[in-house]
Amino acid sequence: MSSVILEPVTSLKGIGKETAEHLGDMGIFTINDLIWTFPYRHEDYRLKDLAATPHNEKVTIEARVESVPSVLYLGKNKSRIQVTVLAGRHLIKVVFFNQNYLRTKLTPGAIVTVSGKWDRGRQVINGTSIKFGPKTDSVDFEPVYSLKGSIHQNKFRKYMRQALDVVGKEMKETLPPHLIEQYKLLSIIDALEGVHFPKDSEHAKQARRRFVYEELLYFQLRIQALRKARKENERGLAIQYDLQKLREFIKMIPFTLTKAQQRVVNEICKDLKEPHRMNRLLQGDVGSGKTIVAAIGLYAAVTAGFQGALMAPTEILAEQHAESLKNWFEPIGVRVALLSGSTKTKERRIILEQLHNGEIDILIGTHALIQPDVVFSNLGFVITDEQHRFGVEQRRILRDKGMNPDVLFMTATPIPRTLAITAFGEMDVSIIDELPAGRKQIETHWLKNEQLNSVLSKMEQELRQGRQAYVICPLIEESDKLDVQNAVDVYEQLATIFHGRYKIGLMHGRLHPDEKDAVMREFTEGKIDVLVSTTVVEVGVNVPNASFMVIYDADRFGLAQLHQLRGRVGRGEHQSYCVLLADPKSDEGKERMLSMTQTNDGFKLAEKDLELRGSGDIFGKKQSGLPDFKLADLVHDYRTLEVARQDAAKLIYDEAFWTGDDYRHLREMLEETGVLNGERID
Ligand code: ADP
Ligand code: MG
Repeated sequence: MSSVILEPVTSLKGIGKETAEHLGDMGIFTINDLIWTFPYRHEDYRLKDLAATPHNEKVTIEARVESVPSVLYLGKNKSRIQVTVLAGRHLIKVVFFNQNYLRTKLTPGAIVTVSGKWDRGRQVINGTSIKFGPKTDSVDFEPVYSLKGSIHQNKFRKYMRQALDVVGKEMKETLPPHLIEQYKLLSIIDALEGVHFPKDSEHAKQARRRFVYEELLYFQLRIQALRKARKENERGLAIQYDLQKLREFIKMIPFTLTKAQQRVVNEICKDLKEPHRMNRLLQGDVGSGKTIVAAIGLYAAVTAGFQGALMAPTEILAEQHAESLKNWFEPIGVRVALLSGSTKTKERRIILEQLHNGEIDILIGTHALIQPDVVFSNLGFVITDEQHRFGVEQRRILRDKGMNPDVLFMTATPIPRTLAITAFGEMDVSIIDELPAGRKQIETHWLKNEQLNSVLSKMEQELRQGRQAYVICPLIEESDKLDVQNAVDVYEQLATIFHGRYKIGLMHGRLHPDEKDAVMREFTEGKIDVLVSTTVVEVGVNVPNASFMVIYDADRFGLAQLHQLRGRVGRGEHQSYCVLLADPKSDEGKERMLSMTQTNDGFKLAEKDLELRGSGDIFGKKQSGLPDFKLADLVHDYRTLEVARQDAAKLIYDEAFWTGDDYRHLREMLEETGVLNGERID
């Protein structure tokens, strides 16, 4: 890197000690730091036609002053100045607050360029900036930065301008020329210019395109390098399972595996046998039958003399898994135990002892599994269910309880395939994309809020036949408290309506975990007929007798979440129904409701979600451990991501990449992350 770039910001004109301190608070110390601080948006000063500008939108107009300004004094240093101007064909008013000095400058006939918020009803622009004279072409866009302390946007822009001028030609290209050529990317300096001070919107767009590609290429290089290193170096366990026993076990299962399950079982078993460590993500829509796949994998490990562990995010889920696995395993002598927060001290002690001396083959549980005193004798295979519910650290702790055991993550959050294989590039991905035969499609209806009564009578029909129902309560902003209040209101209302006929239960996030479990248990056992709940019921709960679900204010939920919720019904032999109550205002909301009624396929919905909304809860940053990108957005830019992935994979296996000058910068970036020394990111 050239020396100018590494000089401290104080080498720029106008930056003294105090300003430098403020910049330091923002992590900006050198000129290099400064130029890589990107604006989060641009102020758009392009001239607009008022007739086409919606209410409350920002506009910039060129106008002629038509009246003498009137000034209203509102107290000490406070004033309001108003003047009539002619903008094109529109005679409108412009208002400024506390800019008294404008009084003498706004003389009739003067030409001004005004920016502000357009009040369409009152035909007034509430001005934020004014320049005298016609608009000059050069400043269509001004960058707006996220700043700390007392640094003003205008000042910051000046520093940035200076920095870019100083750096100018000295800035070295960071991407190899053949890629710049191939994708017609802007040069680095042109792109920096376009990110900060674009000439026009096309310039801004091209600048963004370059940096998004670069960012994603670098991200993928890291992942691909890691993957290569892992495949080459990281020894895992070669689990030599007993194929014969596995076949017999599969024959004993009371149903036939779907093709997708068979395929995924094969993928997992192949990984188990290989000497490198398995690091696999198993995706399968709700109800696609991931549990039996997990069980087969665990059993394979057991037949090779290893122990297995299955971690679930809630007690209910862990219990359900334990129950299923005990049913399948006890007849063949595989010893299964359940460990959770509510395991009694004495029982816990016995379990830990048996685990330690190898008398337990498979341990199922909640977070309780990762406590330090849980010690396995020979842990070979670890599975986490609903992997996004656990932090990276928790998953690591569990893994470290074995000698580099194979690891499988399961998730029911459908992620479009392209996105999954690229974003989780360092993992292998298995997908169960088929539901067991004979499943009845859940009938989904979208009704208006005012039709609640007919929905409730339909629900009662189901209850009369002995079925159970879920009522999911509105989600209010981000406030857990309000959600709870809502659930309580709905609960009380239903308890009154169905009084003496059906038992209503209430479930929400503020209940103590014990209370939650108690309510859930009563519902599972059929003692509660209708469960009113917030979204806490979302994950994995299996009550096959529940055939009816109402979701209040369904348009407040994203598609992924609606789909997860709906997956609570349709789990048994009964025809099931899901009613979305919603009066969406936006077209996007309407389309979401329609999509839900049109398909039960989680992957299709996930792609629709991408199209409609972008990111949202497909990728919470925390849950995925994905890096914080400056510009790239894994959802909107997923095509670029795929391109970058292919390029990265090619580069990593290309001799020239490791020696050639064109690649020096990328190589250095890789070296800095430690990926090349075998440090891992998961
Ligand atoms: P999920 O993938 O949502 O965790 P589960 O593993 O809980 O799904 O399976 C849902 C239900 O489907 C369970 O009752 C399970 O026994 C049943 N099931 C799984 N696979 C099959 C199959 N191939 N044929 C019939 N039923 C199956
Ligand atoms: Mg499950």
